[in-house]
Amino acid sequence: MFVRSRLFLSVLVLVGATAFKPSTPPRQRSAILISWDGALREHINDSLKRSQMPNLAQLIKEGRMVDIEVSGHVTDTRSGHAQMLTGYDPSVTGVFSNTVFRPIPLGISIFERLQQAFGKKDIATIMVTGKAMGLGPGGPKVPAEMEAASPNQPNDDDEKQARRLEKMRLAVEQNLLGQPFHLVKGTLTAWDGDMPRDARGVGQKVLSLIDKFGPKGRFFLFVHFGDVDVNGHKYGEGSPEYDGALVSLDAWLGRMVAQLKTDGLYDHTAVYITADHGFDVGTTHHAKATHIFLAGNDPQLTSAGEQRDITPTVLQALGVDLSTITPALPGKSLRK
Ligand SMILES: [Zn+2]
Repeated sequence: MFVRSRLFLSVLVLVGATAFKPSTPPRQRSAILISWDGALREHINDSLKRSQMPNLAQLIKEGRMVDIEVSGHVTDTRSGHAQMLTGYDPSVTGVFSNTVFRPIPLGISIFERLQQAFGKKDIATIMVTGKAMGLGPGGPKVPAEMEAASPNQPNDDDEKQARRLEKMRLAVEQNLLGQPFHLVKGTLTAWDGDMPRDARGVGQKVLSLIDKFGPKGRFFLFVHFGDVDVNGHKYGEGSPEYDGALVSLDAWLGRMVAQLKTDGLYDHTAVYITADHGFDVGTTHHAKATHIFLAGNDPQLTSAGEQRDITPTVLQALGVDLSTITPALPGKSLRK
């Protein structure tokens, strides 16, 4: 009996361990889009050359990695993810930067485009994030918080009052209507992103969500990891800590792919990795960090492009007819 079950197990593992099959018809695929916050293209290429990212290397071997430029907005988390996950520029999303934004209007996110194309019941849309600050769903500022920033405080000198006014102006600007994903959150099948957490917290959540939704049918899962960005701000782009965060995210990529294989999902699941912005080389900031990338187990991913091309690329890979989308997407699919 022991031998038999061992044999059965190894057969299962063999069956489950197939690679992604590009011949899978788009409408039978699921997809995972992973964002490595602040991952600079050149640093990734160096890490690959040093063989520090075996799981990313394997993904690229099955598919490809192409260069992506960030354009049309500043290089920060809020505006990067808004463009990555809608395909539109700030004039449409309302997300211009980390300090000037409003909630992305309903109906234009990649999640909702999939629901519009296939029906909400026929594709699960899931979002998991590691940074409440950058990708939070928060609503309008509550009155108590506004009160705390009120300029009408006795005993303030002019300078103090000016600072308080500026603080209040910013609070109003940022939170009067809510965070970028405040409205999108309500359209999703599953949301998990109300807390900051490291790769382990995000990764473990993702593994359980793959287990939960994978067997039910098609899914599109967006995953955000904040670790590289956090270490870049703290220690710099050239630091061992920034490097180590990339290595750890590569390991989590490996665990996700292994989970997909164990669950028998990998052969029809396209896995993509990108970033919201890069990092300024050797610094602790990303003011002009336009160099990012798109990697995936998808051999039809062939062209270099821009961040606004990521949404049409993923939608096309999942079988959405891009010509039906209004307003027309300014970007294009990077698949042949
Ligand atoms: Zn940052």
